[in-house]
Amino acid sequence: MRKKIIAGNWKMNVKPSETAALVKGIAEAVKDCPDVEIVCCTPAIDVPAAVAAAAGTPIGVGAENCHWKESGAYTGEISTGMLLDAGAKYVIIGHSERRQYFGETDETVNLRARAAIAAGLTAIVCVGETLEERDAGKLNEVIVRQMEIGLKDVSAADCAKLVIAYEPVWAIGTGRTATPDQAQEVHALIRATLAKLVGADTAETVRIQYGGSMKPGNAAELLAKKDIDGGLIGGAALKAADFAGIIAAAQSK
Ligand code: PEP
Repeated sequence: MRKKIIAGNWKMNVKPSETAALVKGIAEAVKDCPDVEIVCCTPAIDVPAAVAAAAGTPIGVGAENCHWKESGAYTGEISTGMLLDAGAKYVIIGHSERRQYFGETDETVNLRARAAIAAGLTAIVCVGETLEERDAGKLNEVIVRQMEIGLKDVSAADCAKLVIAYEPVWAIGTGRTATPDQAQEVHALIRATLAKLVGADTAETVRIQYGGSMKPGNAAELLAKKDIDGGLIGGAALKAADFAGIIAAAQSK
């Protein structure tokens, strides 16, 4: 049984001074959801405030990126040790916005993911195709490449600290959601690819989230699919009631 995991990706949207109110609002809105792992991934500068506000609640806190070196001359970067020191337990790696705007490659995804896992953070590694790639019939090729390179040298034991997020780029922030069948098809491909990389038994234990315009109104049917083990949520994670609605949908699955 894989525990459902619902994670918010706040992106660059919430100030440190606004963080406690959102975390507390989510904690108050979430009613009795013991079967769901709840995470807020915040801008790095919000992590301390989020951790303080989440104390005593079931909410875990994560960041949106980390560097692979522990320290040094990497102006503007954040190390895994810094995130852990601030109380983060999760980190998103390789979000499509980082791939699109900040030069993230499958190779740097691999470096960041391995560093995060080695440090003891849970790495939420994002994969997903653009609309052009899907329309060109390259969906499978893209997903398999992102996984083979992004997860190179990630061992079966490392998978205890690994979550994969399938985020079709065309569904992120667009209001356009993959249908449950479309999402399930790719989640099954991701699990089959994981089985080749780390073995079938381990692949069965890894949670695979869907991300892309997930909302309270469409979460239940996505989360009902066999290989959809949670959600990575952008816009709807910024409203406590909407995020709690998705968590409630995950609890009832
Ligand atoms: C995301 O950015 O990870 C995401 C899924 O965004 P949204 O839910 O807004 O589509």
